Amino acid sequence: MTWIKNPEPWMVNLVAEKLGLDVERVETLARHGTIRFRGYRDVVYALLRREIAGHPEGTVVLLERNGARLVPGYPPIQRMVLPTIALPRHFIDKVVVEEKMNGYNVRLVMFHRKLLAVTRGGFICPYTTARLERLIGGRVRELFREIDPETYTIAGEVVGLENPYTRYFYPEAPRFDYFVFDLFHELKPLPPLERNELLEKYGLKHVRLLGVIDKNDVEMFKQIVAELDREGREGVVAKDPEYRVPPLKYTTSAVNIGDVRYGMRFFMEEGRSFLFSRLLRELFRAYEEGFGDAQLEKLALEFGRAATEPALESIRKVAMGDMLYEEFELVFADEVELEEFTSYMAELGVDIVVVSTSREDEGLRARMRKIKDTWIQLRKVLDTGLSPVD
Ligand code: ATP
Ligand code: MG
Repeated sequence: MTWIKNPEPWMVNLVAEKLGLDVERVETLARHGTIRFRGYRDVVYALLRREIAGHPEGTVVLLERNGARLVPGYPPIQRMVLPTIALPRHFIDKVVVEEKMNGYNVRLVMFHRKLLAVTRGGFICPYTTARLERLIGGRVRELFREIDPETYTIAGEVVGLENPYTRYFYPEAPRFDYFVFDLFHELKPLPPLERNELLEKYGLKHVRLLGVIDKNDVEMFKQIVAELDREGREGVVAKDPEYRVPPLKYTTSAVNIGDVRYGMRFFMEEGRSFLFSRLLRELFRAYEEGFGDAQLEKLALEFGRAATEPALESIRKVAMGDMLYEEFELVFADEVELEEFTSYMAELGVDIVVVSTSREDEGLRARMRKIKDTWIQLRKVLDTGLSPVD
C-alpha cells in the first residue's frame, strides 16, 4: 500500500484509455502529481487530484493488466442559500427531498470479487473497506448479482463516531453505518425511488426520503427543513425524480452554527474555512426569512459565541501546556489491520498517534489522536506574541 512514483507504461495506457485522454497528457499529469498512482494490497489504481476533461476530482481508475475499471468521481452538489428562488427555478416539476447525512462520502465498488471503499478524494481507505466488508459485504455481493459489478458504483455516507474523518452522532447509527444516496450505472445515477427499491430488496440502508414535493411548494420544503433543524440534523439534498437536472443541497441553521463551534476549536484549520461560508448561509437565511431586530440579535449572539468560545478555550488550554487534538476510537479485526491503517495515514501526511488499544468481541479497539496544526501555530503565537495572519 504505497505511492507508485514511476507508473509502468501499461498503467499509463489504461488510464489514458479509460479517461479518454492522450497517453502523453496522462504522463504529464502524472509528472505534475495531478494523476497519482497507488497500490492497495494487490490492487493498483490511479486517482485524479482535480477535475480533468469532465471527470470530477476523486475519479479513480482501478487497474489490472488486461482491463481497467473507471470509478466515477462523486460530483460536487451546488448549494442553495435562497430555496424560495432556487427550487422553482432549478427544478422541472417534482422534487425528491432526501435527508443529507453528515459523515463522509464513500463509493463502494466491486473489483475482482473484492469490495473497495473509495473516499471522496479517490483513496481506497483500508479502514472503511474492512469495516464495510464486515458490515454489509454479504448484502452488497447479493446486490451485485442482480446489477453488473463492472458498471455500477454505489455511493453513500458513512456516519457514526467510529471513523477517522467526520464524527457526528446519529441515534440510529451511533458507531459505524452506511447509508446509500446514489447508485450509478456508469456515470448516470438511478432515479431515487428505483434506487431505494433495489436497495431495500437486499437489506441495504439508504438515506431517508422526506417527501416528494411540487417545486413551487416552498412552504413544504421549509417545513421539512425546520423539522430537521429542531432535531439537530444536517439538512437535505433535493433531487429530480428522474435525475434530469443535478441535485441541490441545503443545510439547517443548527448545523451551520454547530460547524462553526466545532471548527473554531481548531481555528487555524477547519475554523478558517468554516467561518465565512457559514456566515453567508445564515445571512441569506436571515434575509429570506425577513429577520427583525430581535431575531438578528439572537443569531448574532449565537454565531458570535460559536466563533469565539471554543477558540478562546483552545488558547487557554495551550497556554496551560495542553495539546490540541481530535480523539476517536476505531475498531480493527487485528493488529495487522491497525498497522495497515496507521501507515496509510502516515503516507497521506496525517499525524496520528495510537493512545491505547483493547480487545473486544469484534476485534481490536484503538483510541487515537490526530494532532492539530492549530496547536503548533498557537504555541508559536504564545511564545512570540505575534500573529500568524495579518
Ligand atoms: P461538495 O460541496 O464539493 O459537494 P462537501 O463534502 O464539502 O463537498 P457537503 O456540503 O457535505 O459537501 O455536501 C455534499 C455531500 O453530501 C456529498 O458528497 C455526500 O457525501 C453527502 N450526502 C449526504 N447525504 C446525501 C444525499 N442524500 N444525497 C447526496 N449526497 C449526500
Ligand atoms: Mg458532508
